[in-house]
Amino acid sequence: MKHNLNRKQVSGVSSFLIIYLTFIGFEAVSQSAIDSTEKPNIIVFMVDDMGWQDTSVPFWEKRTSFNNLYQTPNMERLANEGVKFTQAYATAVCSPTRVSFITGMSAARHRVTNWTLEKNEIKSMERDHPDLSFPLWNVNGVSPVSGDSLAIHATPLPQILKDHGYNTIHVGKAHFGAIETPGAHPLNLGFNVNIAGHAAGAPSSYKGLDNFGNGKEGQDIWAVPGLENYHGKDVFLTEALTREALKSMDQSIASDKPFFLYMAHYAVHTPIMADERFLENYLEKGMDMTEAKYAALIEGMDKSLGDILNFLEEKNIDDKTAILFMSDNGGLSAVARGGQPHTHNAPLSSGKGSAHEGGIRVPMIVKWNNQSQAGSTCDSPVIIEDFYPSILEMAGISTYPTVQQVDGISFMSMLQGEATHERELYWHYPNEWGPSGPGIGASSSVRSGNWKLIYYHVDQRMELFNLKQDISESFNLATTFPDKLIELAKNLSDFLLMVDAQMPSYKEDGRAVPYPIDAIR
Ligand code: CA
Repeated sequence: MKHNLNRKQVSGVSSFLIIYLTFIGFEAVSQSAIDSTEKPNIIVFMVDDMGWQDTSVPFWEKRTSFNNLYQTPNMERLANEGVKFTQAYATAVCSPTRVSFITGMSAARHRVTNWTLEKNEIKSMERDHPDLSFPLWNVNGVSPVSGDSLAIHATPLPQILKDHGYNTIHVGKAHFGAIETPGAHPLNLGFNVNIAGHAAGAPSSYKGLDNFGNGKEGQDIWAVPGLENYHGKDVFLTEALTREALKSMDQSIASDKPFFLYMAHYAVHTPIMADERFLENYLEKGMDMTEAKYAALIEGMDKSLGDILNFLEEKNIDDKTAILFMSDNGGLSAVARGGQPHTHNAPLSSGKGSAHEGGIRVPMIVKWNNQSQAGSTCDSPVIIEDFYPSILEMAGISTYPTVQQVDGISFMSMLQGEATHERELYWHYPNEWGPSGPGIGASSSVRSGNWKLIYYHVDQRMELFNLKQDISESFNLATTFPDKLIELAKNLSDFLLMVDAQMPSYKEDGRAVPYPIDAIR
């Protein structure tokens, strides 16, 4: 075109046409360039119950024996290409994390503080607690419409993405709302596509040969819906979900729309069943059967991640697809595992269900070519509600009305290695999980800098830790640093008051559990 323009014999009229057409052409190219840069594909790869050490990627300052035990080559690959967050947090159990993810709210504010399942019902372990009466929290989960009782009405993240042109795909575990409530169904929460998501937070079976629990007596609630093509076949649930995710992404590419894929694996939640493809690797290492099965669940999840990364490369869209890897709570350690309870996340204390780091600190990696520094590490604390504003920023969506107040803060600037936000992180669990162990039980916590305060509702006990010096939370400094204790108790109390957090009460006399600062005075 340039060559033609320079030729002297070109008439004035045709020059004008050429320049005009060139201009139009440039406009079209430039518009599509804007569209593709402003709207990357976004994949959230959410693993269930995966602990901070359940990987060959070291998230601590040194490699641990767990990093040598578990094999997650595709997480290593993702970490080499993206940013590893070493102090990323979720809540201690499933639904609060998932609702924070989809609403951007702190659990204390959205009040889905425990895991959901039955409509309008508080769990028996909460009803039967010997000392505490628990508040009527939002047992029905999240709701896309107002007026649903015992549910948090919010504008779900996928709805905003859909409204801005995204194809929104849900694959795997949903667990956003109780049975027979609108929030139980991903299609009501702004997803265009739902594969295998419903109210339950665990599969009856991981095995296609078991029809994933369908048709098993007494397993209706837990049977995984919507994967009939794999029934009777020797396909593991993690693999079936991955194949369906690839298909759905492929259809989306054909439609020329950007996609948002929420790839939410049921793995590595109980039941700890053998993913036979990887089991032998771990039996050979001398692990007991339960732990070998657990490790195989992890490697199967990692294979899924690899399949997705390969797919993006094959389709030549890896440079315009952001991937956010996350787990919804710490690794299970109190029950159902081999070996000593509460040790599976070492050097962190405890595990799922606990306010200690083992219950809430999780592996997180974010990769977005051109926007994230490959192979870098971010030590700034971030928390699950931060995903909401971060993902909207990734999608180039800056104004979006929501019915809820969003607590999360975007971590996008951190992908480029910029400094952390000075802020506190909060957890609030006025609930009962069941098992017992370090940090397990109704509590409220705050992290400020390297300090962390945990306030236990049942006996108003306080734990004060310096996480930089004591990542294992072994030394309670509550009496050594009384000024710090008061400062954090005040800070935590102010937050709980601000979000109107629910507190349990004592069965003995009906008194509400006081906020932490009032427990000190
Ligand atoms: Ca979970």
